[in-house]
Amino acid sequence: MRAKNIAVSNSRSCLLPLFIALALLLAACATSAPSRMGAAVPAAQSVSSDRAETGSSRDAQAANSVQAASRPAGATDATPVAVASATPADAPEAAQAGDDEDDADDDTDVGEEAESHDAVGDPNSGFHYTAEISDAELARIWKTKPSDLGSVSVGFVDAGRLLNGIRFPDSDDWRVVSPEKTYATSETIAYVQTAIRAVRSAYPNAPPLRVNQISAKEGGYIRPHQSHQNGRDVDLAFYYPGADPIRARAREKVIDVALNWALIKALATQTDVQVVLVDRRVQKVLYDYARGHGEELSWLNSLFHGPTPLLKHAKRHRDHFHVRFYNPRAQELGHRIAPLLALQPEFNVAMHRVRPGDSLGQIARKYGTTAMLIRKANHLKNSAIRAGITLSIPLRGACTAHCPIPPAVIVPPRRLPTALIASANQNKTSNGASTSLTPARPSAMNSAQ
Ligand SMILES: [Zn+2]
Repeated sequence: MRAKNIAVSNSRSCLLPLFIALALLLAACATSAPSRMGAAVPAAQSVSSDRAETGSSRDAQAANSVQAASRPAGATDATPVAVASATPADAPEAAQAGDDEDDADDDTDVGEEAESHDAVGDPNSGFHYTAEISDAELARIWKTKPSDLGSVSVGFVDAGRLLNGIRFPDSDDWRVVSPEKTYATSETIAYVQTAIRAVRSAYPNAPPLRVNQISAKEGGYIRPHQSHQNGRDVDLAFYYPGADPIRARAREKVIDVALNWALIKALATQTDVQVVLVDRRVQKVLYDYARGHGEELSWLNSLFHGPTPLLKHAKRHRDHFHVRFYNPRAQELGHRIAPLLALQPEFNVAMHRVRPGDSLGQIARKYGTTAMLIRKANHLKNSAIRAGITLSIPLRGACTAHCPIPPAVIVPPRRLPTALIASANQNKTSNGASTSLTPARPSAMNSAQ
């Protein structure tokens, strides 16, 4: 008996590996058979299909580029002759799972820049952009019909609110990705539209650009951003050879460099852009492209490498541009409206940056309000708050100690390459009129919906 038992157990222990081997063999056959029929596509094939897709749209792009090169419409003298864009030789590393969605922003505490809360310019130099509204008139409109003021950018990008925000409109030239988070000032909307249309004007077959998050309807904190609070920060996807993003990890290898450079150039020369946050590896391909296509070196260096560069590196910005604009009218109105906020209780809020150990209850007590009101104002599903985020705190009385007033804004002159300045001056003398170099800044009065 004993010997038989041993034999049985031995034969079981010998059979087990055999069964496993057989099962593995069957599994291998099952996966390889359909792949020959094209049902299951292994990783290697998906790379080549990406390549094929890239290649065919690149042909279309090459056709675009020829058109663009032969038609100067909307382009400046300094616009590069576009012939080539991203380098397909370094093909996409196959779309990788786990790569950030291009519509997801960063985890912001490390990536997005806050804004200096220091005063800019001479605070006593008067108002530059809303001077036609007297203080008395401003108070009257604010008390009676605040919507007549148009969009107002209150506070700071990282501690702010948006009044009379406008939802980014739809168009064939772009795609609004999350409509509920694309509220902006009228100025921001006009700038983004100007830049995208400039790209389309130079490259008529450019795919629509994905416009990602801007701000919530009333501004304030939105996950996962630190900024994006007062209608001036816009996340723009990159241009790819086709309309859909290629979700490779190294986006700089798969983007359409010519189109993305055209976008940056339009932002720099035709809008009041303040900063563009994007990974330095993406910056490098844009810089190299622009340099290889005749852009003025000193101008390029001022954009990329100067003491106050337009493009700045930020972590987790390898799949989108984070673009911040000056808003002369909306910011100036925000500065002027700050002392009047308490006259409109629904807009009477303070901003609180959450520190480690803070709880909603403690914060509510500090500001003389309730945890429920804070949750509602910040669209929080529960009482959990994370250190580093900024909360809007609805106030019950006048905000005296807790409401920082933003400085009066003075928008710096736009950065232009010499050739563009020269051609503008030439147009000015021959037409006796100014050119589009300094387009009229959008009026925000009565432009809210
Ligand atoms: Zn952003």
